[in-house]
Amino acid sequence: MKISFLTLGCKLNYAETSTYERGFREAGAEVVPWRDAADICVINTCSVTATADAKSRNLIRKMHKQNPSALIIVTGCSAQLRRDTIEAMEGVARVFGCNEKSLVVPETMSLVEKGLETKEIANKRPETAIFAAYSTGERTRSFLKVQDGCDNFCKYCTVPFARGRSRNISIEECVANARKIAAAGVKEIVLTGVNTGDFGRSTGETFADLIKALNEVEGIDRYRISSIEPNLLTDEIIDWTASGTKFQPHFHIPLQTGSDNLLKAMGRRYDTALFKSRIEMARNAFEGPGKPKVFFGIDLMAGLPGETEDEFLRSLDFIESVNPAFIHVFPYSRRPGTPAADMPGQVAEETKAERVSVLENLCCKLHSEFLENNRGVHEKVLFESANRSGYMEGFSGNYIKVRRPYNSSLVNTIVDVIL
Ligand code: SF4
Repeated sequence: MKISFLTLGCKLNYAETSTYERGFREAGAEVVPWRDAADICVINTCSVTATADAKSRNLIRKMHKQNPSALIIVTGCSAQLRRDTIEAMEGVARVFGCNEKSLVVPETMSLVEKGLETKEIANKRPETAIFAAYSTGERTRSFLKVQDGCDNFCKYCTVPFARGRSRNISIEECVANARKIAAAGVKEIVLTGVNTGDFGRSTGETFADLIKALNEVEGIDRYRISSIEPNLLTDEIIDWTASGTKFQPHFHIPLQTGSDNLLKAMGRRYDTALFKSRIEMARNAFEGPGKPKVFFGIDLMAGLPGETEDEFLRSLDFIESVNPAFIHVFPYSRRPGTPAADMPGQVAEETKAERVSVLENLCCKLHSEFLENNRGVHEKVLFESANRSGYMEGFSGNYIKVRRPYNSSLVNTIVDVIL
């Protein structure tokens, strides 16, 4: 039986798809590339914006057109939030919501083997536990899911509705999965979740204890935290990660806007002063003469409701004052059912587009300055396997991409370099 996979969205989705893949292989299925003919097509959807929802539906149509007799299996955030719409689409055999992920492999296999009617399966009571996942298949880096869901309900966000309440995998199981990743020869792990720093809600453990336990796993040389809310990046986490551990000087911190008025209106749990204090503390802890600069990647939304020209300029000033290495820019997407969708002061699409390009230009400027500020610094690079026209690439600890002539003996090895 041939099965193919398509994934949209975040690192969490990729870790979950990779885990489904392993499950289907163990169940005897042959995994084929999505362009090839397949008996089953699994589509892991995203719903973070209206565009992502539309892309998810387009993929379903495309895979049904490409494989008219295949069973289309749909999971992910759009499957959770747009279930009725997706269940009504041609070719869709089964839709799995956010609490049904551990049923994807067994129920799809029984669908195939016993030709059970979807209605009969749908009556089974979904479970509520968290679905553990990690990615394999990439030789160098693996996404390890440690947490899922969110309790913050920021005014513009649908994620808590799509992925449920904040819950986590136990430290013991995270360590066990990290050992499996190490056994596969992977050297770097990216800790992944929805609100990763909120780890511990369902087990009473803490994020600080998790990273200390993972640091002891043999065979893994480097860790990155995929994203952490500013108010959850505690002094303890900063001090400890900077004390000579495997955690790299690389933090991805969602800011969303540099305006305190808008942060408050959107229900974010910090202000610009707190945000800045995290950046400064991490710089003081990690940086020093001849040492690499910390890579701060920040998320920014352009055109939040209420973002007047003044608020936007205030936000720009703040971003320049914290001087991040990279800005992930998103135009605000009005999501039905969120409080922000009904707020006054909605920003026109063309204004949003203008602000996105202002932020992207700023990102280019800040990133080149970051590269310049690291010139001549000693760093370690983990080289990846791909041979790109005779060259290979890898990332330094502080997330600078480095390119060198291809040398197969350096694949998946950590090499000392002068940036
Ligand atoms: S913390 Fe992130 S995932 Fe949670 S509600 Fe806010 S924006 Fe959404």
